[in-house]
Amino acid sequence: MDKKHIECIRGDITKLEVDVIVNAANIKLIGGGGVDGAIHRAGGPEIMYECDRIRQEKGGCPTGEAVYTRAGNLPAKYVIHTVGPVYDHSSPDRNRRLLDSCYRSSMSLAKQLKMKSIAFPNISTGVYGYPKEAAAHVALEALGRALQEPGSIERVVVVCFDEENYDLYRALLT
Ligand code: ADP
Repeated sequence: MDKKHIECIRGDITKLEVDVIVNAANIKLIGGGGVDGAIHRAGGPEIMYECDRIRQEKGGCPTGEAVYTRAGNLPAKYVIHTVGPVYDHSSPDRNRRLLDSCYRSSMSLAKQLKMKSIAFPNISTGVYGYPKEAAAHVALEALGRALQEPGSIERVVVVCFDEENYDLYRALLT
C-alpha cells in the first residue's frame, strides 16, 4: 500500500482513532443534528465552548471554510469544523466549488496542525441534500489532490454512515 492513502469504512466517525476528525458543521457553529450532533454528544461540552469562542471572535465559519477545536472526550486530538454547501439545484458549479473547498481547507488545516491521519464524513450529503454520487466524486478528487501535495497527512479515512455512500466509495476506491 502507498505510504499516503485514502480508505473508506462504514461506521460512526466519533469512534475513529485518528488524529483529526472532520465535522459537517453549520455557519454559526451551533450544534445541529446528524454528524454534528453525534460529535458534540460524544465529545462533550469542551468542543462547544471552543465553538462559542470562535463564534464570538469571527462570527462562525463561512461555507467552504474550516476552523478547528480540540476534541474533548473523543479519541481524536482535534475536530476540524467545515461548512458544506446547502445543495442548490440552480448552481451546480457553486455547489462543486464550495464542497471541494471544504475538503481542501480541512486538509490544509490538518497539515498546518502537523497531523498525520484524518477522517471525513460525507459532507453535505445529509440534510444539506448534495446528491451522494456527485459529492463522492468531488470529495475523492479533492482528497487525492491534497494528498499529492506536500504535507504531514498520510492516512485519510472516509467514514460512511449510510450504505449508499459506503457502496459508492467502495466502488470508486477499488
Ligand atoms: P450536512 O448538513 O452537511 O448534510 P449531516 O450531518 O446531515 O450534514 O450529514 C452528513 C453525512 O454525515 C451524512 O451522510 C450522514 O449520514 C452522516 N452521518 C451522520 N451521523 C454520522 C456519524 N456519527 N458518523 C459519520 N457520519 C455520520
